[in-house]
Amino acid sequence: MLTITGIKTAETLLNLEHVCKGYGSNPKQLLAVKDVSLTLKVGEFVSLLGPSGCGKSTLLRIVTGLNTATSGTVEYRGETLKGVNPHATIVFQTFALYPWLTVEENVEIALKARGVPSAIRQDRARKLIDTIGLDGFESAYPRELSGGMRQKVGFARALAVEPELLCLDEPFSALDVLSAESLRGELMELWLNKSIPTQAILMVTHNIEEAVLMADRIVVMGKDPGRIVSEIQVSLRHPRHRKDVSFQRLVDSVYAAVAGQTRPEIESLGTAPGQPGATRRLPRALLNQLAGLVEKLSDEHGRADLYRIGGELSLELDDLLPIVEAGDLLGFLSVQEGDLLLALLGQTYAEASILARKEMLAGRVLRMPVIAWIYESLRRDDNHRLAWEYFLNKLQADFGNRAEDQLDIAISWGRHAELFAYDDDTGELYLE
Ligand code: ADP
Ligand code: MG
Repeated sequence: MLTITGIKTAETLLNLEHVCKGYGSNPKQLLAVKDVSLTLKVGEFVSLLGPSGCGKSTLLRIVTGLNTATSGTVEYRGETLKGVNPHATIVFQTFALYPWLTVEENVEIALKARGVPSAIRQDRARKLIDTIGLDGFESAYPRELSGGMRQKVGFARALAVEPELLCLDEPFSALDVLSAESLRGELMELWLNKSIPTQAILMVTHNIEEAVLMADRIVVMGKDPGRIVSEIQVSLRHPRHRKDVSFQRLVDSVYAAVAGQTRPEIESLGTAPGQPGATRRLPRALLNQLAGLVEKLSDEHGRADLYRIGGELSLELDDLLPIVEAGDLLGFLSVQEGDLLLALLGQTYAEASILARKEMLAGRVLRMPVIAWIYESLRRDDNHRLAWEYFLNKLQADFGNRAEDQLDIAISWGRHAELFAYDDDTGELYLE
């Protein structure tokens, strides 16, 4: 520890500066991670939060040395990281246990790989199994355990090597609600009571409440390209309670930070494929979901808490945000400080007849350059029909391997607005 005028300053464990990571070789393809700078100090529990595809797992792989950055620097305890980081371990969503080994052997194997002598191995494995509450199951096989118990074995295996830095990649998201909550509690107890020698935890999640429940600091990421959009300090004392007003207030502000990045950086719809300038990506949302959201918002007199409304519509963050983004793009609603606001257009839509809705939607959707381009291309064609591949090929210049996904969304929007549709038999798009 360094001491400056008597105040202890925690050491820096991990330092990332301007880290970029691109996959593949297409220069027009978006970076998986762009210009990420991040510091992790001894004693910190930091959570990386963001929608799927924003590069969270990529960052963890870079930190643990399983991947290398395309550019930028990665330092661990002041030294440039080369190869696999020996001080870090990673726990994944679902842990691959060896089915033919017992619980104890599954934990021991991590130690064996590091050359720990057999007697010490057994002792340490047993202690850990006890610590995580699996005592009595030492000689059980993975198939005899529930999902929650198997994930505990995964944790024990990661902890067995006493990593200085524990990396967690959505470690609770494959578990049922109760097992997830109890495992979170157990990990927090180990961490807060310092029963494990771990010096820092870096946890990836797309669950806001989980981040607020566990982390000291939340790093909010956005996507396309994957980047840090804001950082939020969580200074609530442990144990934290979800129902506390201060807890919920923090959840709201984190939600606002996450939702804020769904607004286009420049209020621009972009250009059509083949034209100069970037083509705006369509959010992965179904327009009937948007209609549902607009109606709900109208029932709530035009303003509602984004986080609550997501809960009431049983939508996960990953599913809700694209719908909000679509509503924003089409001018039906906007986001303000964690609240959804119904725009005048949205209100009109909510009150319109089915027929009027279709017309309104067609008009709004045609403002999107990708949709207008497909529509115009079909109109110009003599038979008003063009092959699906024709569009795909052109979209690939802008979207690379995501072109197909974009075309799918465009077709679903076009069909919903009764502009154009896809003919399964001929593999063509045609005007409605
Ligand atoms: P997250 O964990 O936040 O969901 P990832 O780090 O897995 O995000 O992915 C970030 C982006 O990089 C995504 O667009 C994903 O499709 C892409 N990506 C991830 N891994 C690879 C890979 N091995 N090859 C090509 N693209 C990848
Ligand atoms: Mg991931």
